[in-house]
Amino acid sequence: VALRRPLVAGNWKMNGFRASIAELRSVAAAVAGGAAGHAEVLVCPPFTLVAAFAAEPREPVEVGGQDCHAKPSGAHTGDISAEMLKDAGAGAVIVGHSERRADHGESDAVVHAKAVAARRAGLVAIVCVGETRAEREAGHTLEVVRRQLDGSVPEGATAADTVIAYEPVWAIGTGLTPTTADVAEVHAMIRDRLVERFGAEGQGIRILYGGSVKPDNAAELMAVANVDGALVGGASLKAADFLAIAGVY
Ligand code: PEP
Repeated sequence: VALRRPLVAGNWKMNGFRASIAELRSVAAAVAGGAAGHAEVLVCPPFTLVAAFAAEPREPVEVGGQDCHAKPSGAHTGDISAEMLKDAGAGAVIVGHSERRADHGESDAVVHAKAVAARRAGLVAIVCVGETRAEREAGHTLEVVRRQLDGSVPEGATAADTVIAYEPVWAIGTGLTPTTADVAEVHAMIRDRLVERFGAEGQGIRILYGGSVKPDNAAELMAVANVDGALVGGASLKAADFLAIAGVY
């Protein structure tokens, strides 16, 4: 089994102003001092802050985008390409977050194209998948997540260019989390499918859990088999909370 370095990624969503760089500085200083153990730490602020965050002395913390367009450039008013994120200093980009899928009607095919764009630009794609409450209650979780995974993750995905984030839609921003047994079941299915498609490389692809990860539940969730880190929304906005989560490593 390949050794997977845990990744703790913060998704700031549509939050943050230039003054928020203070939070990044706190996170970076603590991580440089060993606060995240052996985990890799990534902060994904809104587009307006990517270049400023990237320009900060923030090693070893990486900066990422929250979305990108599939095309490298062109007549797409308001959109940002993966190449632009790379140029701004990003190392990664979240694609297919459930808020993008819901607010912007992004299909698996669109998410797939964005993951391909990320690779083309030299960014790590964090591909998000997850079932709604209705889908879970109907017993369709594994089938839905597998379909999203197959449809969204491009051929030739590698451990170096792809990360999966399992984020049950009903757990995002709600304070609700699945049981550890439920998380284990979905992550095991994702692992099996990645290995089926990508062989040994699939063993190395990290699978993050996301959805109401907080300082008080992080240790339990991160200890689940095949959970290789966290995608953190609300709790990533405060340096102390985010560091407490990364601190489980
Ligand atoms: C997210 O937006 O990816 C997320 C997991 O949000 P929260 O941690 O706030 O549930």
